[in-house]
Amino acid sequence: MKVTVFGSGYVGLVTGACLADVGNNVVCVDIDQGKIDRLNAGEVPIHEPGLDDLIASNMAAGRLKFTTDIDLGVAHGLFQFIAVGTPPDEDGSADLQYVLAVANSIGERMNDYRVVINKSTVPVGTADKVRAKVQAALDQRGSTLQFDVVSNPEFLKEGAAIEDFMKPDRVVIGTDNPRTTELLRALYAPFNRNHDRLVCMDIRSAELTKYAANAMLATKISFMNELANLAEKLGADIENVRLGIGSDPRIGYHFIYPGCGYGGSCFPKDVKALERTARDVGYEAQLLQAVEGVNDRQKTRLFDKINRHFGGNLQGKTVAVWGLAFKPNTDDMREASSRTLMEALWQAGAKVQAHDPVAMEETRRIYGERSDLTLCDTPMAAIQGADALAIVTEWKVFRSPDFDALKAALKQPVIFDGRNLYDPEQMERMGITYHGIGRGRQQ
Ligand code: NAD
Repeated sequence: MKVTVFGSGYVGLVTGACLADVGNNVVCVDIDQGKIDRLNAGEVPIHEPGLDDLIASNMAAGRLKFTTDIDLGVAHGLFQFIAVGTPPDEDGSADLQYVLAVANSIGERMNDYRVVINKSTVPVGTADKVRAKVQAALDQRGSTLQFDVVSNPEFLKEGAAIEDFMKPDRVVIGTDNPRTTELLRALYAPFNRNHDRLVCMDIRSAELTKYAANAMLATKISFMNELANLAEKLGADIENVRLGIGSDPRIGYHFIYPGCGYGGSCFPKDVKALERTARDVGYEAQLLQAVEGVNDRQKTRLFDKINRHFGGNLQGKTVAVWGLAFKPNTDDMREASSRTLMEALWQAGAKVQAHDPVAMEETRRIYGERSDLTLCDTPMAAIQGADALAIVTEWKVFRSPDFDALKAALKQPVIFDGRNLYDPEQMERMGITYHGIGRGRQQ
């Protein structure tokens, strides 16, 4: 089948590469010439495990192409995926300008029936706006061509995106007619062989499903962080509580890790956008407001602990930061907790020595060269001569460091662990001052 994917970011690249890998002929279109040039030169602009090989093999097989040529993109695919960004607007609602620009491009250029598939995360009602945009462009040309609009939200997780796309828990398809549902069923058939993972529904429900999923996951995290903060006041260890509640199958162990807040390109913006959607229809989404508020506060917890430890005077101190990406196995730093921490440290006059296995280039892109940030090639280099260590991302490589070497490298043996990687008792035995999240009264 012929497929066009607009947007060559995390979602677009994975969608394009995976659809090509099962035999489709895919053209990926992006307006970022630099990105397309890199892709055509064999360089993948993001870090996503397995993606480089998948793209290379499908390019070599002639099934995957990258271009900035919108004419070519619209002419190519029966299926026209929209996978462009939907960043938060100033008021928190999703900015639809990129989505609607693609819809307009399709309407202006299509010369045959097209299925326009919205993969970007968009508020309920966006499919109607996309339909209106395509129709308006067709009307402008005096064209009577037919098209359909589908909502097909993406649930992949950065860091495991290919596995998620190839073996999805579910593929949500929102349509308003059976013909389009069947076309989508055929497109997704290669990923749907073991058992039926397609969940077909009306368009508005599909659009809301994506926000519901992300808001639920964000709620679980904020709930645990709320309890972690309470555990500190009560002298309880949230890690014991986590194991205690996770053992209940109605609760489960997934996504109940306390920490220094969630970040990334999805949870913060999607919770905000859903809250904004609710407000627009006259509903005050109190729970969503709380989820966001708890997370904003949680992202400042590591800094507060560090600041308190140093008696409110961080001037001239150096803090080692392990982990810059918003989560392991990605280089994505959008809304990462590391940014909140580093910016607060700099504001307080401290210096940062940081290490991340893959996100240092992205850090350089965001912050440029600055005298209060040193990016170090190894975790051990980052702690050399630092006054304290802060752990922000739970990369595997940080889980079992050489604690003796760590003690020797730090000026003071003190760790602020935003992901609760270590055992407080072991830290105490080793003479390391340890501050986790929600781990007893001494915090
Ligand atoms: P991204 O920022 O990595 O990529 C978006 C790409 O779209 C950019 O390369 C940009 O240049 C391109 N673009 C913008 N306007 C364009 C146009 N008119 N034509 C062609 N390309 C255009 O974004 P992303 O992380 O891939 O997210 C895309 C969407 O998918 C968002 O709505 C996001 O919420 C959603 N989503 C993201 C994830 C994730 O983990 N990143 C998961 C599920 C859903």
